[in-house]
Amino acid sequence: MQTAVLADPLDFDGWREAARRLRLAGVEPARVQFVVGQSFGGLFDEAAALPRVDGAFSVPRTFWETATQLIQHRSDDRFDLMYRLLWRLKDQPNLMAVLSDRDVAEAADRVKAVRRAAHKMKAFVRFRQAEDETGEHWGAWFEPAHRVLPATAPFFARRFSTMRWSILTPDGSAHWNGEALTYGPPADQAQAPREDAMEEFWRTYYASTFNPARLRLQVMRSEMPKRYWKNLPEAALIPELTADASVRTEAMVTQPAPRPNERFQRVRAPAIDRATTDDLVPETLDDLARGVQGCRRCPLWRDATQGVCGEGPARAGLMVVGEQPGDQEDLAGRPFVGPAGRLLDTMLEAAGLDRRDLYLTNAVKHFKHEPRGKRRLHKTPNAGEVQACRWWLDHERRLVKPRLILALGATAGLALLGRKPAVQAERGQIITADDGARVLLTVHPAYLLRLPDPTTRDKERARFLADLAVASAEL
Ligand code: SF4
Repeated sequence: MQTAVLADPLDFDGWREAARRLRLAGVEPARVQFVVGQSFGGLFDEAAALPRVDGAFSVPRTFWETATQLIQHRSDDRFDLMYRLLWRLKDQPNLMAVLSDRDVAEAADRVKAVRRAAHKMKAFVRFRQAEDETGEHWGAWFEPAHRVLPATAPFFARRFSTMRWSILTPDGSAHWNGEALTYGPPADQAQAPREDAMEEFWRTYYASTFNPARLRLQVMRSEMPKRYWKNLPEAALIPELTADASVRTEAMVTQPAPRPNERFQRVRAPAIDRATTDDLVPETLDDLARGVQGCRRCPLWRDATQGVCGEGPARAGLMVVGEQPGDQEDLAGRPFVGPAGRLLDTMLEAAGLDRRDLYLTNAVKHFKHEPRGKRRLHKTPNAGEVQACRWWLDHERRLVKPRLILALGATAGLALLGRKPAVQAERGQIITADDGARVLLTVHPAYLLRLPDPTTRDKERARFLADLAVASAEL
């Protein structure tokens, strides 16, 4: 048996070097074991004896993409599975595409679990305010299902770039000082700040936005598994609110409807009308996001759950501007998280663009819709609403300073060019707006989703991809 000793559970370089040497030496997976950490029982002697064979081989990119995520899984045999795949690629170069293969399917399931853990971490980390010798510092305790901290911490660095923060986990810790991300040893919960004033905000927010008529316990438990509850300030309210749900639903049905949006007012910023906003200059994207929650420049705030501001790095080279938040964005408070957003993510990836490097926003920040039964149907914002909301978009542009703006659809084009563009005729070329902005026009991904004819849909998707490729090449 050959033993390869790895420095830590995420020692990808160590695993890669050992696996390379073992495969070149023709050591079969059944004769290899990977262990993490300390020497015991002569292990290092065996490790030092790992074969050294000159040579090289290549493996498909999909293998490396899988392996770098698979290593974050907590299963003890993940290194063995990675080596088994690497070994089998020798005779089956297309193995990673055989989704019915047992090893490939097992790896895919574990990668899915890792991605889910990263997603939950992004959603459920709650920073608490504290002070240290240099001033305000935010701390969060989190117990991820898999070892996703190093892969997820850059997301928090981009999202909370102006705060100094630490995320502490049993696997390790990540620290952001406003300029650089560093990693430290595992921590325990006692090192994290305890309850702070924001706790009450989260509880008020959650209670205010909780809709008993929409409650589906099974979905809620799968989206917000119980294991995360203990670190979520708002989770203390869940048993009470869910137990109460049927009574509250009954009351909602029998009582006159509240003023639209009234429930959200309790956590809103003070109202800002057009006269007030004209004197207000947001200094940061956080200021701007707070301002949008109180904006009254046009009537769209009345029927929306909340304003949805842009998100992305504060200095993104490419800004993507859509039309307005949709139903799911309105509820989540984030842009491009619905079906059109998912399609956009896929197409961006295909064009070699990473969503995490882009600033995504909309021309209009509140969801315009009309009720149709239980559904809320999208309505296109009119020119007055686009003009009113351009105030916020202009400030987003001033703060982010993108080198190029990708306008998705006619409404975004109107907001950026000051005129209604002919999208099909003008798409795919960079237009210089009157204010100097460089705008690349294309269709909105929601348009691609609506196309019923598969041939037209494929053709339009290819054109959309070509437009994205122009943006990618420009960057
Ligand atoms: Fe203000 Fe824009 Fe919302 Fe209208 S849509 S209320 S302008 S943020």
